[in-house]
Amino acid sequence: MVTIKSREEIEKMRRACKVVAETLLKVKENVSPGVSTLDLDKIAEEHIRSQGLLPAFKGYLGFKHTLCTSINEEIVHGIPSKKRVLEAGDILSVDCGAIYEGYYGDSARTIPCGEVSKETQRLLQVTEESLALGIEKMHPNHRLFDIGAAIQNHAESHGLSVVKEYVGHGIGQALHEEPQVPNYGMPGTGMRLRAGMVLAIEPMLNMGSEETKVLEDGWTVVTLDGALSAHFEDSAVITENGPVILTRI
Ligand code: MG
Ligand code: MG
Repeated sequence: MVTIKSREEIEKMRRACKVVAETLLKVKENVSPGVSTLDLDKIAEEHIRSQGLLPAFKGYLGFKHTLCTSINEEIVHGIPSKKRVLEAGDILSVDCGAIYEGYYGDSARTIPCGEVSKETQRLLQVTEESLALGIEKMHPNHRLFDIGAAIQNHAESHGLSVVKEYVGHGIGQALHEEPQVPNYGMPGTGMRLRAGMVLAIEPMLNMGSEETKVLEDGWTVVTLDGALSAHFEDSAVITENGPVILTRI
């Protein structure tokens, strides 16, 4: 079932999303060579709790941390660890969720550590642009796959591949609600979008093939060919006038 959020619910989500956005900025400020992903996780958890909110991922399906931290060829769901120390030239995908009064916010950014190559910068830029183009389709009476089509079109026109096995989603009183929002599809197809729907749009784009595998830790998703991957996500609400992104400050 797809839920339509009331004004009061959206205000609660706005709060959850704002704290997620703040947290990701704090993490970004602290990304540098020599920092471990567990250090970043602690910074994130402290900030979320200092605002009176709860980390959304901690305890979710047994996940033990506040952030998912995925380095280089890791796509999503990487586990923070003191053994994973960032080096100059790495890219780090950071995914964060928070809960305010039972309502969730969810957002992700891929952050360069020090100087990265031109090609890597382009991967990040195109992924972020594809997120923006997907969100632009969030209007009442547009169709669900208009979003994925915009993302796929932009990614593929820049020679990047779209991860198909992991998708965006509705969000509200659960981290993952219906509908699933694939980052690909035929424009003009899928359910009709309506004002009051809140969606987390989250393209994952690879430099190589779209194929993925899960590591033995049971969580970390990597590109099968070892090529770099980027992930940008925002939670946004559909209004009569179009999308409003909630996970921005
Ligand atoms: Mg997320
Ligand atoms: Mg998500």
